[in-house]
Amino acid sequence: MQWKVFAFFAVFTAVFVALLWLFQVVLLDTFYKAIKVNEIKSVSNAICSSINSSSLQEELQRVAVDNQICSIVCDGQGNRLYSETAVPNCVIHRLNSWDLAMVYTLTAQNGGSYFERFPQETRQSFTVLDNSLAFVHRQESPEVMISAQLVTRSDGKQLLVLLNSVISPVGATVDTLRYQLIVVSAVMILLGLLLAFLLSRRIGRPIESLNAAAKVLAAGDYDVNFEGEGYREVHELSDTLNYAAHELAKTEHLQRDLIANISHDLRTPLTLITGYAEVMRDLPGENTPENVQIIIDEATRLSTLVNDVLDLSKLQAGVVPMERSVFNLTESVRSILTRYSKLTDYHIVFYAGDDVFVDADELKISQVVYNLVNNALTYTGPDKSVTLRQSVDEGKVRISVSDTGEGIPQEKLDDIWERYYKVDKEHKRAQVGTGLGLAIVKMILDMHGGEYGVRSQEGVGSTFWFELGTVEPDSAAKP
Ligand code: ADP
Repeated sequence: MQWKVFAFFAVFTAVFVALLWLFQVVLLDTFYKAIKVNEIKSVSNAICSSINSSSLQEELQRVAVDNQICSIVCDGQGNRLYSETAVPNCVIHRLNSWDLAMVYTLTAQNGGSYFERFPQETRQSFTVLDNSLAFVHRQESPEVMISAQLVTRSDGKQLLVLLNSVISPVGATVDTLRYQLIVVSAVMILLGLLLAFLLSRRIGRPIESLNAAAKVLAAGDYDVNFEGEGYREVHELSDTLNYAAHELAKTEHLQRDLIANISHDLRTPLTLITGYAEVMRDLPGENTPENVQIIIDEATRLSTLVNDVLDLSKLQAGVVPMERSVFNLTESVRSILTRYSKLTDYHIVFYAGDDVFVDADELKISQVVYNLVNNALTYTGPDKSVTLRQSVDEGKVRISVSDTGEGIPQEKLDDIWERYYKVDKEHKRAQVGTGLGLAIVKMILDMHGGEYGVRSQEGVGSTFWFELGTVEPDSAAKP
C-alpha cells in the first residue's frame, strides 16, 4: 500500500516533468511559428477588408508597429499604392515593379492568395524562380513569411496586398528554458519524491496498522486496540473499529454468561425432576401431590427458559410478523393477571379505570405485560405485592408495573435492557432468570414504536412502564 502510493506519486511527478519538457522545449518552436502564421494571415484579411477605407495607410502603419509586419499594396502592373516598412532588409521592399507584377500574376494563378515561408539568408537576392519563391532551409536562421492576397476595390480594380513578417529563431530561448527546466525538473523530482514518501507514510502506515489490528480482531482477540494517526477519516475509522471491538467483546462476554447461566438453569430443574421422579419410583410413599407439583414446576421453568431463547432469536431474525389489530388492552391485562390467581400468597392489584383500546399485536403486547409482571413477582419484596396501573393522557395509555423489591442501582438501569444482562450475577435459585425477558420487551415495544422505561429506588422498589397510542373501540370495525 505504502509503495503503491509512493509509486503513484513518483509516476505523477515524472509525467508532469515530461509534459513540461514537451511543451516548453520540444514544441515551443512549433507553437511560436503557428502563432506567427495565424497572425500574418489574419492581418492580411483585416487589410483586405479595409481596402476601401481612407485610413488604410494608418492601418498599415499600426500593423507595422504592433506586429512588425511590412506591407505593400500594389496594382497588377506592380505600381505601389501603399507601402509601410517595419523591419530592416525586408524582402518585399526589395522587389521592383516587375517582380511585384510577377507576384501579382502568381497569386492570381494560385487562386487569389499565396503564402510562403523560407530562411532569410537565402533571400538575399530575392527573385521569383520557377513560379515559386524557392529557398533552401537552414536551421537557426530567422525565417521570412510572405503573404500575398488579391482583393477587389470598390471601383472594380484588383489590388495585391503583400505582407512580410520575420520569425525570429527561438533556439536561444529554448536553450535558456532547457537549462532552467533541468534545474526545475531536478527540484520537482526531489520534491515529488519527498512528498510521495511523506504522503505514503501518512496514508499507508495507519491503514496497514488498522488492517493488522483488524486481522487480530478477526482471529477472535477483542482486546485489540485500533490506532489511526494522520487524517481525520482514519481517526474516525479507528474509533468506529474500537467501538465495534468493544461491542463484540461485550456480546461475547454476555453470551459466555448466558451459556453458564443457561447450563446452570437447565441442569438444576433437570436434576430436581430426575431426583424426584427416581424417589417416587423407588419409594411408593413419596408419590405425593407435592412432589408431582415440584416436577411440574421445574418442567415449567425449563420450558420458559427454552421459550425465551427461541422468542428472542425469532424476534431478532425478524421472522415473526406483526399482526396488528384493535383490542381492549385493559381487558387483556386483566386476563393475564387471572393466570396468577392461584398464587394466593402474592398481592397483585390492577388500578385500571375505563377500558382502553390500542392498535397493536395483542399476543406480543401480552408477552410484554407477562414479562414485566413475572419480573415484578420475582424481584418484589417480602410483602409480595405487585401493583399495576393504567393511565391515559393525550391519546396515550401507560401501563406501569411496580414492585417493592430491592430496586436496581441507577448505573445499571440502562444495561438491564441488554440481552443476557443480569444485575445479580450470583445465581440465586429464587431469582432464576435468563436475562432475556427485558430484551424481548424492548424489541417488541420498538417494533410498535412505543415508549418504555423504568424508575427504581434501591430498597423501595422498581416501576417498569410502557406506552402505546390509544384508538377508538369502533375502529375495530375497520377493514
Ligand atoms: P431475567 O430473566 O434475568 O429477569 P430480564 O431481562 O427480565 O431477565 O431482566 C434483566 C435483569 O434486570 C434481571 O436479571 C434483574 O437483575 C433486573 N430486573 C428486572 N426486573 C426487575 C425488577 N422488577 N426489580 C429488580 N430487578 C429487576
